[in-house]
Amino acid sequence: MFNETCNTCSCSDHLTSHSPILVSNKIYQLLPFDQSHPLALNRIMPVIGLAQSLNWLHESQYKESSVASVEMLARYHNIDYVETVLSAENNRCIPGTLGRRFNLGRNGNSYFPKIFTRPATTAGASILAGRLLADNEEGIIFSPAGGNHHAKKNQASGFCIFNDPVLGILSMLDNGLKKVLYVDLDAHHGDGVQEAFQHDDRVFTISIHEKNRWPYTGKISERGLGNTRNLPVPKELNDNEMRTLISEGVIPLGEEFEPDALVIQSGADALLDDPQSQLSLSNLALWDAVEDLIKLSRRILVLGGGGYNPWATVRAWTGVWGLLNRQNLDVELPLAAMGILRSLEWKHSKGRNVPYHWSANLMDSPNFGFVRPEINEIIREIRR
Ligand SMILES: [Zn+2]
Repeated sequence: MFNETCNTCSCSDHLTSHSPILVSNKIYQLLPFDQSHPLALNRIMPVIGLAQSLNWLHESQYKESSVASVEMLARYHNIDYVETVLSAENNRCIPGTLGRRFNLGRNGNSYFPKIFTRPATTAGASILAGRLLADNEEGIIFSPAGGNHHAKKNQASGFCIFNDPVLGILSMLDNGLKKVLYVDLDAHHGDGVQEAFQHDDRVFTISIHEKNRWPYTGKISERGLGNTRNLPVPKELNDNEMRTLISEGVIPLGEEFEPDALVIQSGADALLDDPQSQLSLSNLALWDAVEDLIKLSRRILVLGGGGYNPWATVRAWTGVWGLLNRQNLDVELPLAAMGILRSLEWKHSKGRNVPYHWSANLMDSPNFGFVRPEINEIIREIRR
């Protein structure tokens, strides 16, 4: 990791699109949740390690995020919810009645020792990114720990405690930007972000997600004030179908909206190797989507999101960082990078016999396929 002095200096407050900033924090060295939880994975530090081993991350591009305060979190979340999460961390438990009220300690939103500080640090990164982007004419910021898109104003949801995408977008608006486009590539519907902005026409939200999968919202008919679009896609979505959805569906909508800033949630759980969806993308399709989308604005915030296969997720997000830095992603991994990948652990049955390419290559094989009629119907519907 980089030394403390440079992490905290303000030299990176001036942004350019030629030198993206990666925001992270050492807190991600600790795993969230207990060992049996699907998100008890080491995902963030290996992305930084791989980027460093590939010489894709200069010290001046790294920024350490600070912990968002209760007041900062209350810009979106209800104060009694925020204070309950803080007291859960301080008292090392979640009282039963409050747990039921705030959906904490249940439904996968289980207690862990940094249940406040870790998500508040992730929120701090998005709030910082929002301010920096609003203060600059252009810039690209990547926060791989971000993208907690399910958290609600008054409840935890889907392993998400605080909704850092919402707080990041609010930070952009509070600092003077007028219009923000949010595009969610995670396999699950970006319900928390949609809920926050469906009655606020300064924000246009677009979510591509697997149809009939939790949280079962995000139907194509959900339009908010007209500033919401949902693309519920069929199982086994392939790379050609994703490219078609982006180029013929999302890009024209984004161009019409003319955003001052773009937020991309780049969850890696729509990838073929991920166990939490039945979508079948290669990481090439995710990278192509991000590469196409970033042409929509000069201010870009890219967040992480879901991703439950550590090898697939770490390689996908390292590639996202590489493409933001205009690197050639078709590279042989250096030994140090392979060592990082080989050291990953996964309790899932698919982690027992790890395929060679999961630790030897950054790039997946493409998953070409026909574009099914249903895909073209989705595009017609969302552009109507
Ligand atoms: Zn997801």
